[in-house]
Amino acid sequence: MDFIKSLPKIELHAHLNGSLSNATLLKLRQLKYGDDTNIDPQFYQIMDANLTLSECFLKFKYAHDLTDSWDALKLATECMIQDFALENTIYLEIRSTPKKTVSLSKEDYLEAIIAGIESSSHAHPNTLVKLIVSVNRADGPTAAQENLEVALKLHQKYPNIIKGMDLSGDPLKFFYRDFAQVFVDARNAGLGIAIHAAEVNEKYEDVKDILDFGPDRIGHGTFVEESGLQNWQTLRKKKIPVECCLTSNVKCGTVKNYEDHHLKKLFQYGHPVAICTDDFGVFDTSLSQEIELTAKHINLSNWDLMKIMQHSVDFSFASDAEKKMLHEKLDQFKKENLEVLKENI
Ligand code: 5GP
Repeated sequence: MDFIKSLPKIELHAHLNGSLSNATLLKLRQLKYGDDTNIDPQFYQIMDANLTLSECFLKFKYAHDLTDSWDALKLATECMIQDFALENTIYLEIRSTPKKTVSLSKEDYLEAIIAGIESSSHAHPNTLVKLIVSVNRADGPTAAQENLEVALKLHQKYPNIIKGMDLSGDPLKFFYRDFAQVFVDARNAGLGIAIHAAEVNEKYEDVKDILDFGPDRIGHGTFVEESGLQNWQTLRKKKIPVECCLTSNVKCGTVKNYEDHHLKKLFQYGHPVAICTDDFGVFDTSLSQEIELTAKHINLSNWDLMKIMQHSVDFSFASDAEKKMLHEKLDQFKKENLEVLKENI
């Protein structure tokens, strides 16, 4: 665990409103509701693994109520970055769906997160943070187009922060083709594309459409193989990296147990994978814990974990200069820990 604790980490798949610790929730409740500070973790955290995926999505409503103002969003972002920084995360991509609230436009919503990222760059200079603008499937194509427009506008203003677009939300809602043009336009404007794909064991036509488009990365990818040999071959041939979120999948019941997680097969095939938290607050986990669980259940060595971090840098949405800097940090760590790495190959 000491090795994992000190390993410089890369997080590529973390939703803001799923990544709030109990301490953060408490601060947010105080901000919105004053002294009414009772927190029942069951409202937000998934305590057992017996929920359906749709029930898991209801969990986010609790956070959305608390992050509906500029100050709350900035605070939530700062707290999230702090939690990752404390785990020695050297690179973090936050993703969030812009929402109109009583006091915020979608643009204000993203600006508040960016303010949190900017203020954190002073407090946590060793954690480089980027923002991915999400599209929630459940909100439909018109909202997706709005998100694209605001993402493109802010990408112009903050080209070093807004780096990508994501498709997430309930996978049973709408079809990828309903959003396809948004992602073509985002890609043409220079944004990286990360799409949740094959998260559930249905809607196979979606998987094909997503893989044919060829995002820079896919989220989960749990049922790519089940969705058809052709899809599996496309994933492999295009070497599309898969953001793997073990505890999330186990707690949402899409993967039976850690040992059976598809990261195992992908890794054995030499396919690019990243180890990610998804929603560390909702799933009561942390990046260190996810890395430890991967090592334990998928039987990966310290050397393998190191390689996964290095590859994750390569398919991150950081600039080339930033990737070089991140690789230098990892190389330095490797040099200093060569003995531990060799012991455990
Ligand atoms: P937010 O975008 O509000 O910052 O983060 C929470 C949102 O991220 C959820 O409402 C949902 O749309 C999306 N999300 C979080 N975790 C998952 C996941 O595991 N799968 C999918 N498809 N979407 C998720």
